[in-house]
Amino acid sequence: MNKFIKGIIDSFIELIYPKRCVCCDGILSKIEKEVGICKDCSKSIKIVGRNYCMKCGAPLLKCGDEYCATCRDNSHIYNQAKAVFQYTGEMKNAMYRFKYSNRRCYGKVFARHILKVHGDWIKAQQFEAIIPVPMHDRKRKKRGYNQAEVLAKELSTLTNIPVNDRIVRREMETQAMKQLNRQKRKKNLLNAFILAENDVQFRKVLIIDDIYTTGSTLDEVAKVLKTGGITEVYGVCVCIGQAQ
Ligand SMILES: [Zn+2]
Ligand SMILES: [Zn+2]
Repeated sequence: MNKFIKGIIDSFIELIYPKRCVCCDGILSKIEKEVGICKDCSKSIKIVGRNYCMKCGAPLLKCGDEYCATCRDNSHIYNQAKAVFQYTGEMKNAMYRFKYSNRRCYGKVFARHILKVHGDWIKAQQFEAIIPVPMHDRKRKKRGYNQAEVLAKELSTLTNIPVNDRIVRREMETQAMKQLNRQKRKKNLLNAFILAENDVQFRKVLIIDDIYTTGSTLDEVAKVLKTGGITEVYGVCVCIGQAQ
């Protein structure tokens, strides 16, 4: 089926049917609607939990460790990143539909979960802006939306921190990263983003994205923002790869 038509049908389904679980697409009960995830999926999905890497936010295998193995060996340009869910099981399907099947309404659910888990931290940091990881214009037109922007707007509504989607732009269309390893991801993203404003007023910002894989994307965006004079750049993602 044509992607565009499928998009319209999906939006229509969202309107006429009761809200569905972001993970299994099953219809939600009244109580479940509050969380956007059904009871069964709530049991099966994996959250990051309290024991996570102080740099990238990945869940740690061993209690008491401060950093994951990757962050012990590799430095990052961003200051710190956090996530809510582990990118595994049904959450992978949720992310796929959020990105490719026009389920923009998932943004509300994910933003609420980010707020629930990291709301105190976000408030304490006093971020001046939420910056969605930009998508190339051509890709955005084709897909109709940028899921990171959807997330940014929803989190902004909940926190009153303004969204800034002008400051950094994606200049190059990059190769799909799914199959690339850490080194190749880095290379693939090199100079993909540019600073689009000369007069940057912010000191501390929060980048938002859907999935954290190796951190290359956050690092590249953080690099551009820091070049523009922003001193502290943090990140928050809905999902992160499994423990390292
Ligand atoms: Zn479900
Ligand atoms: Zn880490």
